Amino acid sequence: MLIVHKYGGTSVGSLERIASVASRVEKAKKEGNDLVVVVSAMSGETNKFIEFAKHFSDNPSKREMDMLLSSGERVTASLLAIALQEKGVDAIAMTGRQAGINTDTMHTYARIESIDPSAMQSEIDKGRVVVVAGFQGINKDGAVTTLGRGGSDLSAVAIAGALKADSCEIYSDVDGIYTTDPRIEPKAKKMDFISYDEMLELASLGAKVLQNRSVELAKKLNVKMIAKSSFSDAEGTVIGEESENMEAVLVSGIALDRNQARVTIREVADRPGIAAEIFTKLAEEQVNIDMIIQNASADGTTNLGFTVSGCQSDQAKAVIEAFDHDIGSMDFDDSVCKVSVVGVGMKSHAGVAATAFTALAHEGINIEMISTSEIKVSMVIAEKYAELAVRTLHQTYNLDA
Ligand code: ADP
Ligand code: ASP
Ligand code: MG
Repeated sequence: MLIVHKYGGTSVGSLERIASVASRVEKAKKEGNDLVVVVSAMSGETNKFIEFAKHFSDNPSKREMDMLLSSGERVTASLLAIALQEKGVDAIAMTGRQAGINTDTMHTYARIESIDPSAMQSEIDKGRVVVVAGFQGINKDGAVTTLGRGGSDLSAVAIAGALKADSCEIYSDVDGIYTTDPRIEPKAKKMDFISYDEMLELASLGAKVLQNRSVELAKKLNVKMIAKSSFSDAEGTVIGEESENMEAVLVSGIALDRNQARVTIREVADRPGIAAEIFTKLAEEQVNIDMIIQNASADGTTNLGFTVSGCQSDQAKAVIEAFDHDIGSMDFDDSVCKVSVVGVGMKSHAGVAATAFTALAHEGINIEMISTSEIKVSMVIAEKYAELAVRTLHQTYNLDA
């Protein structure tokens, strides 16, 4: 079997942890498997580098940020290869470029365009464990790029797809995917299986246990992902294609995204084209908009509200402040969060949203914005109610049963 392992920041967070990962890899190798191991930076390193750069500039060049950020993963990849060699396991560390990962030119949020797996394959053929620095690739100009926060998950899935690996095991500090973040609700239950679509929603809506783009790619390439713990030998959760009878499960999980901000623009001229203008400007600055609400107009103007992820709120503010016509004042609130109910069963059942609204109302939690899709209901609420809302919804749908 050819297996891809990916170890996240906590799993390689100290020299002892790297030694423990080396033992795990050695064991899998001795069981007769071929292995590619993708690693993250030691936990906290990427954030530390970002702070370092801020010391010199409020707006550092994205190209240089990628040079900086990609270095954390090189440290862990080389240390793990050294630890493996010391155990007598033949291993070689590679950067993203050496592993053949080609991306577009969008620095700090690059997309993988292609992978040339020949260098990795030839090392595997020599019996070596290939250790790849995650989260990075190279663009057509030869510059290092990074894949967005949590991007080592994406590296692992893309490599598993390119090498046609049998599975892609993502190791973190939790032993699988739970019905909600077990740090918020200790009664959360581990799932044996979750469909790509549900996992994609949970990840996109804030469950950072897997990076959302990695789940999207796994679905596209049909890569079998398994979420496991590097701290135990527990079974883990398989992420795969949904089966016929899965609609029986109404709600499979609750996600929380604390990193949200809401922008309200008042006195927006109520005329054709104004929304197009505002949101085109935001898109040009690469600001991703999530929920949008527009009120019915009074006296020829209306209020327009939308949410953005917290890390893009400065860009969003700057765009609206620079907008010089047809709008009044702007309010900005980053003390909100988004809580979401996810489940494929919603496709065929009415009333899931009403149940969620009722449960939050009983707790006195005001819902400020709502959005729904076939398999999710998301609500923006005050951040101070985040945990209470998660636990309330978890109980409402009997997820702890
Ligand atoms: P790594 O650093 O290894 O990439 P992350 O910190 O990104 O790991 O992801 C693991 C964390 O995800 C867990 O510690 C847990 O708190 C959080 N998490 C959020 N939602 C869930 C969920 N539904 N199931 C399991 N873990 C979750
Ligand atoms: N080190 C990067 C981050 O912190 C990538 C990763 O861990 O997957 O976002
Ligand atoms: Mg992660």
